[in-house]
Amino acid sequence: MAQGSTKPRILLIAAGGTISMVRDLATGASVPILSATALLSQTSLAAQIEARPIDLLMQPGPGGHSSNLLTLARCIQRETDSGVDGVVVTHGTDTMEEAAFFVDEVAPVTVPIVFTGAMRPSWAAGYDGVKNLENALRVVAAVPAEYGTLVTMNDEIFEAWSVFKADTGALDAFAARRGAPSGRIFGDQIELTWRPMPRQRPGKLPSTLPMDIPILLLGVADEAALLDQVTDRPIRGVVIASIAAGTVPPTARQRLFRLAEHGVIVVLCAGAASGRTAEDYYYPGAYNDLIAAGVVIEDHLTPRKARIRLLISLGLQIPYVPFGGEFVIPWLH
Ligand code: ASP
Repeated sequence: MAQGSTKPRILLIAAGGTISMVRDLATGASVPILSATALLSQTSLAAQIEARPIDLLMQPGPGGHSSNLLTLARCIQRETDSGVDGVVVTHGTDTMEEAAFFVDEVAPVTVPIVFTGAMRPSWAAGYDGVKNLENALRVVAAVPAEYGTLVTMNDEIFEAWSVFKADTGALDAFAARRGAPSGRIFGDQIELTWRPMPRQRPGKLPSTLPMDIPILLLGVADEAALLDQVTDRPIRGVVIASIAAGTVPPTARQRLFRLAEHGVIVVLCAGAASGRTAEDYYYPGAYNDLIAAGVVIEDHLTPRKARIRLLISLGLQIPYVPFGGEFVIPWLH
């Protein structure tokens, strides 16, 4: 908190998305134009914080490209270096889980950072943007930075690594990879049932991000035929969303072996929405032979999050280290 002031200094970044959308009466289209100041003025907390509003990327989230991730993270870094107590980002919900995780991975953990958005545009009945923003302001003012970057939607609080959009339209569209949200908001009360989990983050911002890293989702008897084209047009990495906890059909597996032999970084994730990969699948066709061939098994992250982590590691020219080894408590012998 600023010396001599009792109000928390909050950097409020408006980065487009449905939360900022109003209806263009001429065309009927939704356009993301509500600024950080306009959004804040609708909440009941405007007078209780010292806001530094910034309008950064006023567009729908899916139009975002790699430079948007870098622009957002650079802005947060620059502004936090010059002194704020917390950062709130309003963002499109389609790509929020990726942007929040990107920021979580690259930003030094010095102040709390909270993302939020809306499932209904401002002109629709049930616009949830004001409530979500109020919640985000409460969370950022109350929760320590050690929790890492958080997302709040629909009165729930999620860690950036765990949150994902599980429904295209519901107000409670967001869910946690680890099974439950980290906390909830009841009016002006915040309940955080999980303690912060210390973990390793790259903590550095790459200057560029490679964008030619595809995600391939496998299905039953899928031969992953597209992967042959990768040998014609080399890429540096690929993320595989396996079946359930790590299963890869036989022909696809041969192709993955070939890629790994050619030095392509292959990161294999569970394809199921939650849970982790299963190291104890020892039958032929499970993934132990892939590990031996150099495929990286990502136990915790969704394929999209694993891709973000891979983009960062390629950008920083460091090896991809599977996420969350720190979370696992080893068996005591
Ligand atoms: N449907 C999206 C949203 O909720 C659009 C976007 O992600 O920008 O904001």
